[in-house]
This record gives sequence, structure tokens and C-alpha cells, in this order.
Amino acid sequence: MQMQKAIDNLDRIIADVEDARLQLSGHHIVKIIGISKYNTSDDINSLYKAGQRAFGENKVQDLKQKMSDLEELPIEWHFVGRLQKNKINNLIDLKPTLMQSLDSLDLAEELNKKLEAKQKTMNCLLQINSAKEDSKTGVMPEDAVEIYKQISNTCPNIKLKGVMSIGAHVEDEDIIEASFKTTRAIFDELQPLGAKYCSMGMSSDFKLAIKCGSNMIRVGSTLFK
Ligand SMILES: *Cc1c(COP(=O)(O)O)cnc(C)c1O
Repeated sequence: MQMQKAIDNLDRIIADVEDARLQLSGHHIVKIIGISKYNTSDDINSLYKAGQRAFGENKVQDLKQKMSDLEELPIEWHFVGRLQKNKINNLIDLKPTLMQSLDSLDLAEELNKKLEAKQKTMNCLLQINSAKEDSKTGVMPEDAVEIYKQISNTCPNIKLKGVMSIGAHVEDEDIIEASFKTTRAIFDELQPLGAKYCSMGMSSDFKLAIKCGSNMIRVGSTLFK
């Protein structure tokens, strides 16, 4: 990726984020995570030089490779993919800044057990399947608060920091907006319990997500195009 292209892409996204967040409040800060799953370590390096610091991957193996390629850079790494149980130990060893895709109580219990054995902790977001789509994992919105509390109470090595959701996979903006509002309402209920991040919004819908209260967006294709 050309340096000028990286600068232009990042500038454009920052301007769009500014525009959307200021419609909510000048105090509403949005963190941008660059999702680099379809891109090379060189592309990430260009965006890093342009000023982007946080990146996310959806496969443990790819995260490991890119962290190793770019180990001299103080990048903040996120994990956003489905975590297979046989990859849990590998992910723990990589110490991501934030694991955003904790998608069931079962996975939480398994992760907690392995964290305990290694005397480690991990910052996580609870993934919510807010549009109740079969193609997505995540807890059902009506169960989310209860499961969040249960993980907080029974999995001491998991540090829950909020929620993550993928917007409804449809054309109709009203339906996408409804899915974001569902996640936002759950986040509001969880803020008294310490939830800090409401991660929602991708390349196609991050402006809408921010208007619905997202404070963390995950952008891939529009950042790396
Ligand atoms: C790929 C991915 C993204 C980024 O998607 P784009 O549409 O390319 O912005 C965000 N979140 C998750 C969980 C992803 O897997």
C-alpha cells in the first residue's frame, strides 16, 4: 500500500468519525481499530506510519504472524474472530490488548480455566448476536446482561470491558440501526458494572453505529482499500 494512500484513507475515516461523533456529543470519543485480516504486514506498517495504532485479526495464526513481523512497533492488537478451543492457549500467549469475540458462557469458562492455569488474565468483550442471525455467533440480546454478570462473577481471569456486535447483514438501514440500538441498550445496562467499550460498526455502517452510541469501530476494507 502506497504511503499517500494510507494517509488519505485514514484521514477520510477520521473525518467521517468526527462528523458522526460530533452529532452525538463533543465528549463522545470513538476508537478506531483497523481490521487487517485481508492485508499484509507491509500494509499495516504503512497505516502505522500514517498514525493508526490499533489493529485486529480474526485468526490466531495470522495474529501471531503479524505480531511477529511487526514486533518492533508498539501496536495495540485486538482479536475479533471465532476462537476455537484448541487455539485458546496460543491466543493467551500472544496477550492481545482486547479479545472482542467472547461469544458464549461455555467459551468463557474454557478460556478462564486456561488463563488460570497460566496465571494470566485477558481483557474481553462479550459478543452479542443482536440481530439474531444464524450466520453469527454471540449471545442472544435477551440473555446478554445475565451472561455478562455470570462471567464477571465466575471467571475471575477474564476482565470484561464491554460488548461487541456486528450490525445486521441486510440492506435496510432501519434494521441495521435497530440492531445497533439493541446492543447500545445492553451496553447502557452494563456500564454500572464497569463496561467501557461498545464495539460496533464496520466499513459499511460505522457512521450509523456511532450515531447509535458506538465508541469503538472495526474498519477493514475502507481503511485498506
Ligand atoms: C472483517 C471484520 C471487520 C471489518 O470488516 P470491513 O467490512 O472490512 O470493515 C469487523 N469486525 C469483524 C468481527 C470482522 O471479522
